[in-house]
Amino acid sequence: EAKNPNEPEFHQAVHEVVESLAPYIIENPVLMKMKVLERIAEPERVIIFRVPWVNDKGEVEINRGFRVQMNSAIGPYKGGLRFHASVNLSILKFLAFEQTFKNALTTLPMGGGKGGSDFNPKGKSDNEVMRFCQSFVTELQRHIGADTDVPAGDIGVGAREIGFMFGQYKRLRNEFTGTFTGKGLDWGGSPLRPEATGYGVSYFAQEMLATRGDTPAGKVVAISGSGNVAQYAIQKMTQLGAKVVTASDSSGYIYDPDGIDAEKLDYIFELKNIYRGRISEYAERYPTAKYYPGERPWGVKCDIAMPCATQNELNGEDAAKLIANGCICVAEGANMPSTPEAVHAFQQHKLLYAPGKASNAGGVATSGLEMTQNSERLKWSPEEVDEKLHSIMRNIHSVCVEYGTEPDGYVNYVKGANIAGFRKVANAMLAQGIV
Ligand code: NDP
Repeated sequence: EAKNPNEPEFHQAVHEVVESLAPYIIENPVLMKMKVLERIAEPERVIIFRVPWVNDKGEVEINRGFRVQMNSAIGPYKGGLRFHASVNLSILKFLAFEQTFKNALTTLPMGGGKGGSDFNPKGKSDNEVMRFCQSFVTELQRHIGADTDVPAGDIGVGAREIGFMFGQYKRLRNEFTGTFTGKGLDWGGSPLRPEATGYGVSYFAQEMLATRGDTPAGKVVAISGSGNVAQYAIQKMTQLGAKVVTASDSSGYIYDPDGIDAEKLDYIFELKNIYRGRISEYAERYPTAKYYPGERPWGVKCDIAMPCATQNELNGEDAAKLIANGCICVAEGANMPSTPEAVHAFQQHKLLYAPGKASNAGGVATSGLEMTQNSERLKWSPEEVDEKLHSIMRNIHSVCVEYGTEPDGYVNYVKGANIAGFRKVANAMLAQGIV
């Protein structure tokens, strides 16, 4: 902590990993001798830069840009870009650290990275977003490349922003390569990349339920967020026969006891992706729903909870409410949405609980598939990509079971994911010497 002051999210992420790795490291003294954990916790490189741009009023604005190149032991750095007013080095280091293990779990050759800016896209015009993205990439372009570092989307960065960044990258570098993922379908994107994280977390929940002979059919689901991950988690869980009763944004949540069906979800797509409105408008349109300003959805009665908004959005108190209401399964779509107190409560009560680095890996896995398609200069069918995504999620689930099963039979998915991801990265680092 003395080395990285004022980085609480980064400490939280490292602490969780170290806690579950301790027995594994003791069994493998070479890891200690070669200081693998200490090296993994130190980014290979951090780039911080000025992003000047001009707003619609003609005024100059200045944001801070970041790229954390965390670990390249098993492949080029890979991870999303986040545009949100809260972005700082601690948040991006925690995300890049988690990303390293997540990417290892996908079985694809991708290292870990993350980046973004404290730019707040809310209320900005398309032209302002474009000018910001162009300025951001004007500096970032010299640090990335198809074989070096491949950014993607995250909070505040979707198809629109990837388009603007890719366009500027192509113009500056004079190359059409797979340096960004999440591209549009007609210009190098992979089928199913927008759906991948939400679908993947749903497949993971399905696998977890299957370990107890159960399925999503007929289950009531509480989901937070209403962005990319939440939208497709709602879609897939509904297709699997569950009823999703909540969605949220940073202003509050809606509860719809009738469930968010396909037609209502179409409205959310339009509301959030085109008009960029607030989730409160859902309750104005559908009188079956009620809007709760300033609250999070964890007090509703549900069987499955899927936090899909942001880090630390579900605390110990929320976990206690979910448990008291009979929730049996928590699958994280967001990164580190549950606080350590919440995680301990889930595990103590033997809930099926999956940390984001395992259950939300479908997004980056499909980005990995996009990279492969770009290298091949081919595009696969949606069915082919879905099948690969589904099998990657099943595989991540089974390695979590392999490394995370406790003597009493309870599967500790945190331990399983951490050990399985760490093993692969650590072995590569040992093989590559002290670098
Ligand atoms: P989006 O920007 O599309 O959506 C984010 C959603 O979360 C919005 O509803 C937003 O509400 C809400 N949110 C953001 N910040 C906060 C906050 N501080 N408090 C409450 N609500 C908030 O992002 P994504 O759906 O892409 O990402 C959601 C989560 O999933 C993140 O943790 C991300 O790291 C993770 N993730 C994303 C992947 C992807 O493929 N996109 C892959 C793996 C993980 P509002 O509109 O009010 O800001």
